[in-house]
Amino acid sequence: MTIQVEIVTPSRQLYSGAVEMITLPGVEGDMGVLAGHAPLLTTLNIGEITLHSDDGEPDYIAVSGGVVEVRPDKVIVLARSAERADEIDIARAEEALQRAEEALSTRSPEERQPVEVAYRRSQLRLKVARRRRRTRPGVFVEDEG
Ligand code: ATP
Repeated sequence: MTIQVEIVTPSRQLYSGAVEMITLPGVEGDMGVLAGHAPLLTTLNIGEITLHSDDGEPDYIAVSGGVVEVRPDKVIVLARSAERADEIDIARAEEALQRAEEALSTRSPEERQPVEVAYRRSQLRLKVARRRRRTRPGVFVEDEG
């Protein structure tokens, strides 16, 4: 049995389709949702969404916060920002990570919080982009680095 998934960001609809299972980075931990799940509304952490279908490799999405509504037949994600693994700009994420690392080494403790969040976003994007490389080798021109 499948469950319908809609993932939207402030600027677009990122995903709409039926999956066997979706896993989400809930603020209280990762959660796996199948058809028939009890209704639930919760906020999302910075983390990975995995979409499992019957036909092969899962799809990976980097999500940076937002909310998710779970109904027995449908999951609706309103993401703060989200990217599919295959559309992550690796150079941009590496630059963001470097900026965050530099800022973390110079900022005072009270100024660090937004930088730490940016750091986690860029690390997540690099992780999700790497998954794409593992699951679909040969698509990428960059080195593993
Ligand atoms: P940056 O510092 O590179 O702008 P950010 O973490 O501040 O990154 P966000 O505020 O999370 O960026 O996102 C702004 C928009 O840019 C969103 O639409 C998001 O999907 C997109 N985005 C951010 N980083 C990347 C990336 N590395 N690859 C593809 N899209 C990205």
